[in-house]
Parts: sequence; structure tokens; C-alpha cells
Amino acid sequence: SDAAKWSQVDAWLAEKLVSEEPDLKHTLANNANHGLPAIDVSALQGKMLALLVKMTRAVRVLEIGTLGGYSTIWMVKALPHNGIVTTIEFNPHHADVARQNIANAGLTARVELLTGAALDVLPGLSPPFDLIFIDADKVNNPRYLAWAIKLSRQGTVIVGDNVVRGGGVIDPENHDPNVQGLRDFIQMIAEDDQLEATAIQTVGEKGWDGFVMALVNT
Ligand code: SAM
Repeated sequence: SDAAKWSQVDAWLAEKLVSEEPDLKHTLANNANHGLPAIDVSALQGKMLALLVKMTRAVRVLEIGTLGGYSTIWMVKALPHNGIVTTIEFNPHHADVARQNIANAGLTARVELLTGAALDVLPGLSPPFDLIFIDADKVNNPRYLAWAIKLSRQGTVIVGDNVVRGGGVIDPENHDPNVQGLRDFIQMIAEDDQLEATAIQTVGEKGWDGFVMALVNT
């Protein structure tokens, strides 16, 4: 099937290009042991986030949606030694497992893990962040975008994951509030003159999906 081929190509590319360090492998295993859903970014996507951190020379990264910290750990490892990832997780069990994984990677001092609903936590953060990764409940993406812009400077990069959802984003029959949130999110980006954006569809071990990336220009 197509999906099986996408996974095989992902496995081949990851084997060639991504050396997933033991603490990242341990994170996925520990997540599974604690019953967390396997909705982390893939290894290839984690490496992309790490490269974006390096290419933007980010020092302060904000993540909305930690899960077990897999993407968090990818990004913090790509930061300079004074760099910090601030990451927000609503589910206390996910946050506990993330804390274990981050401690196992020796990165506790460089990750600020805030537990709570992102919309309650975001007002307490100070700008500017250099890179912002939005990957939580998609229904709130328009509100997360508004906060991301408030917490940006000129040159901040905003990345939003899962904006395609197997094509659901343009399916008029799809009334899932998360899908509606993604449509509104894309529309808001489109209408905001200070954002310069693109979106890339992806296939791979996580199926057919995609991400949006925006540069804050003012
Ligand atoms: N970024 C993670 C990774 O790639 O390893 C995956 C994040 S997972 C797709 C989404 C996470 O957002 C879940 O752990 C979920 O509990 C969390 N979440 C859901 N609603 C939230 C909210 N209102 N505030 C903060 N986190 C939330």
C-alpha cells in the first residue's frame, strides 16, 4: 500500500540522515511504556525542527504541546548551551513522563516545562521567542497564533504541525472542530500582513499530513 511505502521510505531516509541519539529512542520507549499516544513528530521531522533551531540561531524556543518531550528534546539539543525551550503541556501524566525523559537526557536545566492549558499559561510568558512550535489541541490554533505573534520579534519563525490531516482540511464534509481550527489558523496566517508563510504536505510513517511555517516580518 502507499502508506506502507511511505513508512519504508521514511525508515530508509532516517537511517541515512538521522542518527537518533539513545535518549530520544528512550523517550519513545518510555512514552509507550506509560501509555502515551505515539503522536510525536517523526525522527525526520524532529531533525527538521533541530535544523530550524540552528538555521535561525534560536536561543529561546516556545513549544505548545509537549506530550513526552520528544520534539522538545530534539530542539533543546540543537540550541546553544545558554538556550532554553519553554514547553506547555495540559495533561499532567504526559508532563510527568516528559519530565522523566528530559531528566534522562540530562536536559532539565534547559527545559522549562509548564503544566496547564496553554491559553492559561501563555499570558505569563515574556517575549521574544525566536522559534515557536504549535503542536497541541488544533481547535485552539487561531488563539495560539495570536499569542505566538504577541510573543514574537521581527524574524521569529512560527511552525504549526498537522495542518493537512489526510486532506481533511479541505473536506467540506469534515466538521471536526480541530479541522475547523486548522482552517481558521491558515486563514488567519493568510490575512496577516506581517506574516510570510508557506505550508508543505508530507507523507511518511505518520501518514499524510503537513506543516505550516511563517516568518514574522514586523
Ligand atoms: N510536540 C510533541 C512531539 O512531537 O513530541 C507532540 C505533542 S501532541 C501532538 C499534543 C499534546 O498537546 C498532547 O500531549 C496534549 O495533551 C497536549 N494538549 C492538548 N490540549 C492542550 C492545551 N489546551 N494546552 C496545552 N497542551 C495541550
